[in-house]
Amino acid sequence: MTSREPETAASPKFAPDTLVVETGRPPRTDGASVNPPIDLSSTFVSTGDIDASPYAYARFDTPAWSPFEEALGSLEHSALPGLVFGSGLAAISAVISLVPAGGTLVIPTHSYQGALASAEQIAHRQGFDLVTVDIADTEAVIAALDEASTRTSAAADAAAASAGEGRVGSESGPGMLWIESPTNPMLEVADVPALIAAARDRGFLVTVDNTFATPLLQTPLDLGADIVVHSVTKYLAGHSDVVLGAALTSSVELRERLHTERSMRGAIAGPFEVWLALRGLRTLAVRLDRAQANAQAIAERLTAHAGVVETRYPGLLDDPGHARASEQMSGFGAIIAFTVDTAEKATAIAEAVRLWTPATSLGGVESLIERRRRHPSEPVTVPEGLIRLSVGIENLEDLWADLEAALG
Ligand code: PLP
Repeated sequence: MTSREPETAASPKFAPDTLVVETGRPPRTDGASVNPPIDLSSTFVSTGDIDASPYAYARFDTPAWSPFEEALGSLEHSALPGLVFGSGLAAISAVISLVPAGGTLVIPTHSYQGALASAEQIAHRQGFDLVTVDIADTEAVIAALDEASTRTSAAADAAAASAGEGRVGSESGPGMLWIESPTNPMLEVADVPALIAAARDRGFLVTVDNTFATPLLQTPLDLGADIVVHSVTKYLAGHSDVVLGAALTSSVELRERLHTERSMRGAIAGPFEVWLALRGLRTLAVRLDRAQANAQAIAERLTAHAGVVETRYPGLLDDPGHARASEQMSGFGAIIAFTVDTAEKATAIAEAVRLWTPATSLGGVESLIERRRRHPSEPVTVPEGLIRLSVGIENLEDLWADLEAALG
């Protein structure tokens, strides 16, 4: 390993805004690089037992990933380094592949649509049930978990009876609860601690997609989540110049299974992308501070605008997710969803802006605007006139003037 020991939840040495700058650097020895080098080897010297080598072949592990993986591990308060993947969706697919055949994946109706599409494919291939829920409705999510547990037990009993054996299936568990909070693009806020506790009580694995919040605003592993996933493409890298993902867990067994998924399917990241992501991570705290301040002001101005039907942003005092977000997050993020009354108006607004960039994705320094239902795969429960804003770090008044003109 080339970099420092990761911080752990038990011994955080620095505040998160220091950690993003400090973590994942080479040891402080005279003449050492301040930044980890980009390591381009595909193979590494290894004699004898290949498993005893820290690095052997770059599809399994490489020093090109280790500093970033350790940095993410410390930021997400994981006892173990993270696992970097070739994209957020590659990380998501690897995690969803852990759901056992005959089990259930309970997932928000308004998850990122790529996660839903991937879940549908894997569920079909692997033979587990997929149940979509309103993740902001805690009772409904718990009811779905209870139903899924009952179904899994009944299926296991039937399989045991037909095989003439005792109970089977209990060791693989009833499945997984997927939490996205806030959700993309509806900005619903889940009761993350309550849902994690309820799912764990019932034997479900819990995964949280922490892309919108970043580890600076919430650290779900501290609340008992088994796995955290990220689209590193967004805030962590922060400059809309890499596509990358990551999964984190404090369980040695789960990390091993995810590592195997990554190695066997080959969904790996390139050294340049990972280096860029670590460089981007250094400014995460200042980028997020500025973007959040911009987002708060823009959300407040949108609520007062006559042309806007509804604005969802957890930082608004009357947002349905405000109380929860205030309790469980240390900031409200920088994504806003607002609705105008028709798809045509929403399209016209996204076409009229001159400073905001009409583009998909989010989390970069530049502000992006998009009518979400232009994606045919977006759930029909997302309003036709919903516009998602990824608020960047530009001057607030420039951003507002441009948006206000487009709204007009
Ligand atoms: N999770 C969320 C919340 C996202 O918004 C996205 C992409 O938009 C992803 C995961 C997928 O990440 P990637 O595009 O890096 O594969």
